[in-house]
Amino acid sequence: MEDTATPERQTKYCQSIEQTLGVLGHATNAEILLALRKSYPDLSATTIHRATARLASRGKIAIAPADNSGSMRYDSNTKPHDHFQCSVCGRLHDTDIKDKIIPILESTIDGCSISGQLLVTGACKKCTKGYKK
Ligand SMILES: [Zn+2]
Ligand SMILES: [Zn+2]
Repeated sequence: MEDTATPERQTKYCQSIEQTLGVLGHATNAEILLALRKSYPDLSATTIHRATARLASRGKIAIAPADNSGSMRYDSNTKPHDHFQCSVCGRLHDTDIKDKIIPILESTIDGCSISGQLLVTGACKKCTKGYKK
């Protein structure tokens, strides 16, 4: 599909995407599109796709762990951080456990060094009620 958005509109979309992601915290392109369609009914998935890719390459937004169905997800928090992901609803929570946990983990794996972000999974508070282990 041809992307017909003008550079001015692109800039406006980028700003709106940053704002929307700031509210949502973590979101897929589809979720961002759904939220922005309220203000821009003719917004296309292609435009969102390009805008989020551009924002991510500029470091304005970060890439978060994929959702439960494997869809790419973006993060409004651009500082390196770790995540808890609910295996039931897919919700992400930011956490900053690395500094405390890495020395403990490394001591249990013969001093191998851990890099990258940690992703811990389980059931979130909301889902814990109906969660079967
Ligand atoms: Zn949940
Ligand atoms: Zn995050």
